[in-house]
Amino acid sequence: MPPRHRLDGIVIRQQPIAEADIIVSLVSADQGRVDVLARGARKSSKRFAGGIALFSEISAVTEQGRGHLPTLLESSLDTAFLHLTPTYGQLALASYVVEMAACASQPSHADPGLYAWLRDSLALCETVDEHALRTPRLAIEIGFLQALGVCPDLQSCSQCGQDTASGGTWQDADAGLVCTRCLPAVPDTLPPALVRALVLWSLAPAEPPVDRLPASPALRVAEKRVAVLLGHVLSNPLRSAAALHDLLRFEA
Ligand SMILES: [Zn+2]
Repeated sequence: MPPRHRLDGIVIRQQPIAEADIIVSLVSADQGRVDVLARGARKSSKRFAGGIALFSEISAVTEQGRGHLPTLLESSLDTAFLHLTPTYGQLALASYVVEMAACASQPSHADPGLYAWLRDSLALCETVDEHALRTPRLAIEIGFLQALGVCPDLQSCSQCGQDTASGGTWQDADAGLVCTRCLPAVPDTLPPALVRALVLWSLAPAEPPVDRLPASPALRVAEKRVAVLLGHVLSNPLRSAAALHDLLRFEA
């Protein structure tokens, strides 16, 4: 008998193939990215019940057959994120989250930090207000950078090493913040509340609740620096990022 494996993970993509099958992509804490073949899943929705839905955390059993991909034998739902009539904005944000996870995860590469970020981010997506996506998006992005180990230390000044509690400027994306003692009275200084939020998200990635930050030039600066850092780790622009960007244009 071919060997069977247990697989726990979150569904980040479904790709229909042939007439009846679906390739289900998962991110697992201990196995990284795993693609499995769900035979007959397009023909019968009962075949795997709710166990392969997008954004779901599932427990599965797979079998390594002769083909390239392991075959999904059983799947049961542990947590269904965004299952109760999500809004368009929530779906757009969650699509962004899973696309980032798809880019950052690797096969056979355990990444508990990325998995925790993915889980927390999807939980956050469930709670967001349709018309206030800007702050949670930034929280999710900072958490992502932190999970990948590429977020600069935002808690300490990159010049003097003292804390940034009184605010700071963020001119060089990679270097992080310069405190108000080193660079006083610079335009677009990030105010203490904004720095506090950035630090919090970098310490506890995307953990809800996320309080809405007021729109300001300083917030725009933080978004731009984060976008630069994301550009280092995401080789191509994400399709879902563009959709989200379109939604955010209407937000104050
Ligand atoms: Zn300083």
